[in-house]
Amino acid sequence: MAEIRVENLRKEFGDFVAVQDSRFVVHDGEFLALLGPSGCGKTTTLRMIAGLELPSSGKIHLGGEDVTFNRASARDIAFVFQLFALYPHMNVRKNIGFPLLSQGVPRAEIKKRVEEAARLLQIDHILYRSVSGLASGDRQRVALGRAIVRRPKCFLMDEPLGTLDAEFRDVMVRELRELHNRIHATTVYVTHDQVEAMAMADKIAVMNHGVIEQFGTPQEIYNRPATMYVADFIGSPPMNFMRFNGSVAKGARSVSVAGVPVGVPEVHADVAPGELALGVRPEHIRFSDSAPLRGAVYGSEYLGTNQIVAVETPTGLVRARLPADRNFHVGDTVGLELNTEKLSLFECRSGRAIPSSLYAGAAHV
Ligand code: ATP
Repeated sequence: MAEIRVENLRKEFGDFVAVQDSRFVVHDGEFLALLGPSGCGKTTTLRMIAGLELPSSGKIHLGGEDVTFNRASARDIAFVFQLFALYPHMNVRKNIGFPLLSQGVPRAEIKKRVEEAARLLQIDHILYRSVSGLASGDRQRVALGRAIVRRPKCFLMDEPLGTLDAEFRDVMVRELRELHNRIHATTVYVTHDQVEAMAMADKIAVMNHGVIEQFGTPQEIYNRPATMYVADFIGSPPMNFMRFNGSVAKGARSVSVAGVPVGVPEVHADVAPGELALGVRPEHIRFSDSAPLRGAVYGSEYLGTNQIVAVETPTGLVRARLPADRNFHVGDTVGLELNTEKLSLFECRSGRAIPSSLYAGAAHV
């Protein structure tokens, strides 16, 4: 397996910039998710790594070798698409072994590798079945098997679970991660689904309009979002933004939101007056009768293990994740206690997080 290194990668289609100066490293054996909404440049990035699209500028290194201008076939990469094309007239065994057959690998070796891949994917009991009668989950496993047998330097996957129904997707998310744990293949995985990315990836690149807004572990991205876009894209419900006008000074330990002082992690920069936002995840809010920040219950959503309660505050609607066994009524007045050490502050104009002790050591702020 091999490290993928992308340097200042850019792709223009005429006047349109699809990917802007991306740079990141996927270490040997790591699983990277490229995450973002439709049209943000995920597939274009993947296709450039695969050699299916030529970059307008920038470089791609694979296993230390500059492959920027190498043809796809010379890159030793396996690509798994959403619309996996299997050969309908062949059985599972032949479908999986086909890439090896076309490479001229001896039959005994093909048999060994196909059986090994089938065992890993738990499809060894259907090796002699026709692929045309298989359920979509098994078809996807066969497509993965075909990629695995080649033992490529890395795997590139473009929304491979996109066509599966929700139940199968959950199963395949777990299986793909377990497979990765076993074979440690360097993987780049494109998805618009934050749950998939969070569940599977070692690192996530959150993309927006061709730009990587943040690159980090799922924990970094969730707990220390670099921008309001990332904070909003990750988490369900997303981070609450309590907007206010003001400024903050280096060393500050509180801000004034709707006239109420709220404790924050120590601020590490001076920020000029303007619109700011306090970012708080729903699980970092408790209801407390004595909390000065107050609002009225607007509605609640029961989720079984917990509930999401929406509260109308002077800064807008705020959602809190609370134990499921408490009853609230629309219109009840409640006090909101925020977990000081978990709060982010953003400058609304740039959308960027304001450096604070919460972000100490983070590369991106
Ligand atoms: P999706 O999940 O919808 O494919 P994506 O994040 O993978 O989204 P890309 O397919 O990388 O997005 O496309 C990024 C942008 O580049 C889109 O606006 C798309 O229309 C544009 N684009 C992609 N390929 C071409 C092309 N060959 N010619 C012109 N524009 C293109």
